[in-house]
Amino acid sequence: MLQWKLAGKGMKEVNGDEVIAYIALGSNLGDRKAQLDLAIELLRQAEGIEVTAVSTFMDTAPVGYVDQPDFLNAVVELQTTLSPYTLLSVCNSIEQALKRKRIVHWGPRTIDLDILLYGDLVLTTENLTIPHPRMLERKFVMQPLVEIAPKALYPPGKRTIAELYQENFL
Ligand code: ADP
Ligand code: MG
Repeated sequence: MLQWKLAGKGMKEVNGDEVIAYIALGSNLGDRKAQLDLAIELLRQAEGIEVTAVSTFMDTAPVGYVDQPDFLNAVVELQTTLSPYTLLSVCNSIEQALKRKRIVHWGPRTIDLDILLYGDLVLTTENLTIPHPRMLERKFVMQPLVEIAPKALYPPGKRTIAELYQENFL
């Protein structure tokens, strides 16, 4: 990835090339489908982001802390000119926008947006790790991802998402 240079702690945008990125979305409170639809609509409206594919929405039982409602999960593909950090702040603003609504109606955590892949970038910083560190073990991420991007490459080993999905889940 040539167009992003590490500058101190942050990333500096040095040109406006388009990068293909994948974002995982999840919701388990309120009208889950409406939350996902709205989050995707806000991504579409964001400057520097074009949503190029949306997976089917997948109902999943919670893992880890299981005493909570089922999730609805999806993955979207983007073309973006935003740096990884700017993309993360867009994701955070969308979470905040929907959270504010939630506090009034449904309580906390109706939406989560995680950056899975950003071109072939491999990045580990305090606030942002790409590829997302837990994506390979999460079926609720890998299943919608393989649906829209079987040939996408997971950068550390340059293996395809389809291969990694088959290895872990079939
Ligand atoms: P989780 O997504 O693990 O349930 P949170 O959404 O509360 O937990 O965690 C958000 C924090 O995770 C963000 O403040 C962000 O800085 C950090 N983070 C690190 N890597 C990523 C990534 N690839 N995508 C989104 N957030 C990330
Ligand atoms: Mg998150």
